[in-house]
Amino acid sequence: MLGSVLSVLLILTLQGHDRVVEGQMQRAYDYTKYHTMDEILAWMKMMVTDHPDVVSSLVYGSTYENRSITLLKVGLKSAEPKKMIWMDCGIHAREWIAPAFCQHFVKEILGSYKTDPKISEMLKNVDFYITPVLNMDGYVYSWKDNTTRLWRKTRSPGSGNCTCLGTDLNRNFYANWGMVGISRDCCSDIYNGPSALSEPEAQAVTDFLSTNRDMILCFFTIHSYGQLILLPYGHPNITAPNQEELMQVGLAAAEAIKAVHGTDYTVGTPPKVLYPNSGSSRDFARLIGIPFSFTFELRDKGEHGFELPQDQIQPTCEEAYQGAMSIITYVHDKSYLRGAATSLAATLWSVLLAMWLSSATV
Ligand SMILES: [Zn+2]
Repeated sequence: MLGSVLSVLLILTLQGHDRVVEGQMQRAYDYTKYHTMDEILAWMKMMVTDHPDVVSSLVYGSTYENRSITLLKVGLKSAEPKKMIWMDCGIHAREWIAPAFCQHFVKEILGSYKTDPKISEMLKNVDFYITPVLNMDGYVYSWKDNTTRLWRKTRSPGSGNCTCLGTDLNRNFYANWGMVGISRDCCSDIYNGPSALSEPEAQAVTDFLSTNRDMILCFFTIHSYGQLILLPYGHPNITAPNQEELMQVGLAAAEAIKAVHGTDYTVGTPPKVLYPNSGSSRDFARLIGIPFSFTFELRDKGEHGFELPQDQIQPTCEEAYQGAMSIITYVHDKSYLRGAATSLAATLWSVLLAMWLSSATV
């Protein structure tokens, strides 16, 4: 009884905190619902208007149907050149929880940086580049009606005589393009396109990443479903030079996720924990030298699949936020705090030691 009263009080406090940040009103936006492309675009404008000192927007390409691909840059102004963290959501149209996560992520950072010294410190050193919906054409189409809800690809025409539309953007990047886990049938959901980077959306991301690759510390691309943290590479015969570190950082993120609502995430390369693939943006990011590159596959494990009920948006985002923050904190501290690289090893060692001690007493 006391517990439930306390949790109600806690919820009320948290809700109050969401709306009022040091006297600054945040305008109402329902983060527990899925939103149309127009609503998300209006939300992006609202973020820039309401937080002009921290948030700006940048158009970095156009979709096949001529929509402006726009990201939000979130960070505190600095005289020094700042490192970058990339996050894109909605590369696959039907994975609606992904754009919801990008919005939640921005909301959480903006709601906490004034009171959380670690977030504040990180926002001084790095800027976040967050694309809430990359495959805008596909996302709009997935909202059209019940028959289009499960659309995955872009909306560009197929090649040759093929009458089907759309390319799988996450098979279209110049990273072992066409080698494994793809289809050459343009009617397939995993059609990799007439050529690498045939899709303007993939080209836009490629241009941005290539231009800024020396500054980008970490690359996230957010998908659903499966509850996975995927590491490079999708090809079974290629291994990232820092795979061990990627694995450790991924496992720490899965621990952080589990601590929130008890949800299990599996960590590994696609051939190990999902299926082999090629031409993904995650692999491209690692291939051009961005040291940390992860795909998050959010909830669930198939019960609802791409049609995750709205009452799971908040818990899914809360836990994934902690997972992402665990990774971001690690890569930030590795760059900006001397000796930080050894701290993860020390943490892991103490966890292993504790496990060994507890197993020894059974
Ligand atoms: Zn996906």
